[in-house]
Amino acid sequence: MAYTVSKLKDYSASAMEKSVADCIRACAIEAASVHNDAELKIFRDRWMARKNGILTQINDLWLKGAPKDAKREAGIRVNELKARIQKIIEGAKVSRADSASAAAERVDISLPGIRRPIGAEHPVVKTTNEMVRVFQKLGYSVAEGPVVETDYYNFESLNFPPNHPARDTQDTLFIAGQQSKPQRERLLLRTHTSPVQIRTMEKRRPPLRIVIPGVVHRNDPPDASHSPMFHQIEGLAVDTNITFGDLKGTLDHAMKEFFGSSVKTSFRPSFFPFTEPSAEMYVSCFICGGSGRRGNDPCRPCKQTGWIEILGCGMVDPNVFEFVKDNGYDPRNVSGFAFGMGADRIALLKYGVDDLQLFFNGDVRFLRQFS
Ligand SMILES: [Zn+2]
Repeated sequence: MAYTVSKLKDYSASAMEKSVADCIRACAIEAASVHNDAELKIFRDRWMARKNGILTQINDLWLKGAPKDAKREAGIRVNELKARIQKIIEGAKVSRADSASAAAERVDISLPGIRRPIGAEHPVVKTTNEMVRVFQKLGYSVAEGPVVETDYYNFESLNFPPNHPARDTQDTLFIAGQQSKPQRERLLLRTHTSPVQIRTMEKRRPPLRIVIPGVVHRNDPPDASHSPMFHQIEGLAVDTNITFGDLKGTLDHAMKEFFGSSVKTSFRPSFFPFTEPSAEMYVSCFICGGSGRRGNDPCRPCKQTGWIEILGCGMVDPNVFEFVKDNGYDPRNVSGFAFGMGADRIALLKYGVDDLQLFFNGDVRFLRQFS
């Protein structure tokens, strides 16, 4: 039943105490049942309204009717009561706000969770990892080096002397403002992963077997088969008595591991400044099986030849070993072979993609196919 103020008949201390307690209890109960703004307003008006609010009624019914000798005592108690009631009403706001925010924060554990998209290996990264794994199984360890290199590591120590025409074949992106430095200290974006060969030979003595995956840059305008940024996988083996036969055997095995046991390899003479002799290695086309045709159509990836060029390789030029001679690489005692391939090109062939740019545009719809 709702609380109503009745006239006080008994002004004894105990009777007043009981009336005050009854009033406070009633107010607290009403405060607890406030659930929204409208109810809060009604509740506040009922107790605090100047005209006929409960506190006003208490003023009228308890104080004005008090006998003279009880007036002071009654005044003190009513003031205390008003303070208590006001506190309860202020608290009603707070408790209402609490329940609203609690409702907002409530977790419905029966709802499905938020699914975060799971990333996948980019086709170029996947190809790189697969190729690196082939060589790791042969006992090669992975070596890496800086993308911003000095002229010395990118060119000079790899047998590209200053002004050598072979430098022109690698359109190089140089870091600006280097003119005051000696040429060998000038910084550039490495045009191949080969500097890591020298860097590793400086740190580790032979025998050495490393595979070097990494990003390289050249000043090539982007098109279907070129990009100013691309990826290489390179390898180096140095030991006593390494021969061209070791090179052929290793690469033939690696290609069969990677493309399937039916592929054949073919080596054709070539030139690189850092290897002598040098070769380009072809694998029999794994798309048309070497026939050059797909049904009635010509096989485009091998240009109908039945062979696809995969990598460059050769025996390490003794001039390269001269740069690291003091670390045990005396060309009279050790020999080695090196090879390098484009990870992007192999990924293009492997996945039948006809435009290199698709790999680097970052279009999730394209990349999702490979997840
Ligand atoms: Zn083919």
